Amino acid sequence: MSEIGNSKSKAKIIVRNVTDLRDIISHWRLGGLIIGLIPTMGAIHKGHTSLVKEAKSHCDKVVVSIFVNPAQFGENEDLDAYPADEREDVRALTSVGTDLVFCPSGREVYPEDFTTVVSVSRLAAGLCGPFRPGHFEGVATVVTKLLLQSLPDIAIFGEKDYQQLLVIRQLVKDLNIPVKVIGAKIIRENDGLAMSTRNQYLSPRERLIAPELNRILQLVAEWVKAKPGDCESICRLARTKLLEKGFEAVDYITVCDSDTLEPLKTYLGNARVLGAARLGSARLIDNLSIR
Ligand code: AMP
Repeated sequence: MSEIGNSKSKAKIIVRNVTDLRDIISHWRLGGLIIGLIPTMGAIHKGHTSLVKEAKSHCDKVVVSIFVNPAQFGENEDLDAYPADEREDVRALTSVGTDLVFCPSGREVYPEDFTTVVSVSRLAAGLCGPFRPGHFEGVATVVTKLLLQSLPDIAIFGEKDYQQLLVIRQLVKDLNIPVKVIGAKIIRENDGLAMSTRNQYLSPRERLIAPELNRILQLVAEWVKAKPGDCESICRLARTKLLEKGFEAVDYITVCDSDTLEPLKTYLGNARVLGAARLGSARLIDNLSIR
């Protein structure tokens, strides 16, 4: 256990192993405190700190985990390039009132003899699923572990990763994990681009193109409301527009049921448009509710 920060900072403690994490949390729990957990991969930005602020409105103690989870990265993905600056992350997290930062090592999370995989079938099958084989299993496995290690009252996840949020809700329900999952709204740059660690990979030219993903998803939402039976052709048009704007590839643009993520031909309410597109070395995702 180590202390960091100055005497005024509310959180001073980083823990690196599950025993210390549990000791502190059970002490808080015995004191009747409500505990919130926010899993992250670090490279903390305002999207993450907004989750801490949201957690503070529900809980007495907020725990943030920082773990760049190798199991959720594909072979050709950016695991080695993923930005890491623990000191700066902890500073940003404590500045918004995080009480405890859990920074386990790879071996702490996945001992050599680790063999279990948590797999959520239906919700993980579409959208990002086929483009990132194994990704949601990696997410589901690590989140299950983090939830069982900390046993929080609530856990907060961003709607930025909307499919991930639903996968986690499903595993919590299926496995009877006693935690309330809260989804938090997407924090955006002024031009609409959803904040993301991976935005750092964008060149200045690509950064100018990137907000088009959000802009075109907004157009899809408007078009779908005007022509509810045309979801598929509207999404095809949106794909063409993104390619025209300079995206190299569009993995998907789909109007889905907000709860099941089933693709919709006809909009009947309770829908969301989700998109993923590649720009330079970044793969950007975004989504919004159609209302
Ligand atoms: P990550 O570190 O990218 O794994 O993200 C950790 C958590 O922060 C996940 O629940 C994300 O959905 C959430 N998150 C990331 N970016 C944003 C954002 N721009 N707005 C809201 N939540 C976000």
